[in-house]
Amino acid sequence: MNKRIAAMNKKISPSNRASISIFERLESEVRSYIRSFPVLFDRGLGSTLIDAGGREYLDFFAGAGALNYGHNNPAFKKPVLEYIERDGIVHGLDLATSAKKAFIEAFERYILKPRGLNYKLQFTGPTGTNAVEAALKLARIVTHRSNIVAFANSFHGVSVGSLSATGNKKYRSAAGYPLANVTSLPYDGYLGPSVDTLDYFEKLLNDPSSGLDIPAAVILEVVQGEGGIYPASFQWLQRLRDLTKRHGILMIIDDIQAGVGRTGKFFSFEAAEIVPDIVTLSKSLSGIGTPMSLVLLKPELDVWSPGAHSGTFRGNNLAFVAGHAALETYWADSKFEEEIARKSAILAEELKSIANDFPNPGLSVRGRGLMYGLVFQKDHSLPVQISREALRRGLVIETCGGQNEVLKFLCALTIAEADLRRGLSIVRDSISAVKNTMANASPKRLHGSER
Ligand SMILES: *Cc1c(COP(=O)(O)O)cnc(C)c1O
Repeated sequence: MNKRIAAMNKKISPSNRASISIFERLESEVRSYIRSFPVLFDRGLGSTLIDAGGREYLDFFAGAGALNYGHNNPAFKKPVLEYIERDGIVHGLDLATSAKKAFIEAFERYILKPRGLNYKLQFTGPTGTNAVEAALKLARIVTHRSNIVAFANSFHGVSVGSLSATGNKKYRSAAGYPLANVTSLPYDGYLGPSVDTLDYFEKLLNDPSSGLDIPAAVILEVVQGEGGIYPASFQWLQRLRDLTKRHGILMIIDDIQAGVGRTGKFFSFEAAEIVPDIVTLSKSLSGIGTPMSLVLLKPELDVWSPGAHSGTFRGNNLAFVAGHAALETYWADSKFEEEIARKSAILAEELKSIANDFPNPGLSVRGRGLMYGLVFQKDHSLPVQISREALRRGLVIETCGGQNEVLKFLCALTIAEADLRRGLSIVRDSISAVKNTMANASPKRLHGSER
C-alpha cells in the first residue's frame, strides 16, 4: 500500500473507516440494496466480497446477475489493464474501435454461429432498461401497432417504456403518470399447475370482441428474476412461439438476467429450442461488471434509420475488452455449460433437502441452472430475516418476489463447489436461527418483529 494512504488510514479509526453514515445523510432515500446489506464493501475477488474492515463475505448475490463470472475475474482483468496501459480508446460513442470489432467477431464466432442464430447487433445505452426501450420501440415501428403484451411478475426495467411492461406496483407507482400501451397477461403457472394460461391468450387473440388490441410484441423472461424466480416450461414457451408466429406478433426475450449462462446455456431460450425475434442482453455481458447492453434483432426487422435510437455511451470499450475475454474464456467449448450443470444439480438437491428439513406450509423450491428461489408462500417476512441473519454469518444473499417472499440464489457461475456448499450451509443455519428466534418469541414480540 502507498505510504501516504497507509498513514491516512491510520488516522481514521477503524469504526469510522467502515461507517456508512454519509450514505444515510447525503444519498437519496431511493437507495435500496445498501439497506439490505449495510456494509462498506471495498474489494471483490471471485465469490468473495471484502469490507473496509477486512471482513470477508461469500457472495450469493452476484450484482443481481451482473457478475456471472465473479468479481475481478483475472482472465478479464489483465486485458482491461493492458488496454488502459496502451491508451486504448475508452469512450468511443458508436465509432468503430478495434476493441468493439474484436467483441463483435467473438460474439459471432462463439455465440451466434455455433447456435445457427442469425441476428444483427444493436448496441444501446449501457443499462438494461435502454435495451428494452429499443426492443419495444423497434417492435412498434415494424408492426405499426402500439400495444405490447407483458406478463404478471415480469421485470423489464424502470424507465417509462420498459416500466410499462414491469409488473411490480412499487416500481409502477413511482412513474408519476399512467403507464399505457401494455396489456399484462398471466405467465406460465400464474393460475396454478392445472391451467395453461396460453388458452386464455389464444382465446383473446382469436376473438375479435375480446378487447385485446393485437400487440406488436410479447416481451418475457424465460425465468422471471426480480418477480420471484418463475421458470416457464419449455412446452409453454414453444406454444407461445407458435401462437405469436401465427398471429404476426413479435417475440422479445428479455435475457438480461437469465442470459449469459445463468440458466445453463448462453441464452435462456436455447433449452426450449425456440428462436425469438428480438433478444435483450446486458448485466453479465461485459463479464467484469462494467455496463453494456445489446439488442439482437432478426435482420428483416432492422428498419432503424441511422441514429434513431441514439446514446452517448453505446461504446463502452472496457466492456468490449472484458466481454470479449469472457466469450473467449468460457464459451469456446461446452466445458462451462457442463460446469454450470454440475453446480446446478448440487444447488437444486441441497435446496430440496433444506425445504424437506424445515417442514413449513408453502415452502418450495423453484428455478433452473444457477437461478433458484426458496419460496416462503406463507411466511412472507422470513426471507428478509434469513437474508439479514445470513449477512451476520458472512453471506450476501438477497430476496425477490412482489412481497420479498423468495430467498434468491444467484451465485457466480464460476463459484467453487466448496463455496457453493458453504453458502448453502450458512443459509441452512440462518433458517434455523431465525426459526428458533421466532419460536422463542412471545406472539406479541413476534408480531412486532415483522416488517
Ligand atoms: C435488471 C433487469 C433489467 C434492467 O436492467 P438495468 O440495467 O437495471 O436497467 C431488465 N430486464 C431484466 C430481466 C432484468 O433483470
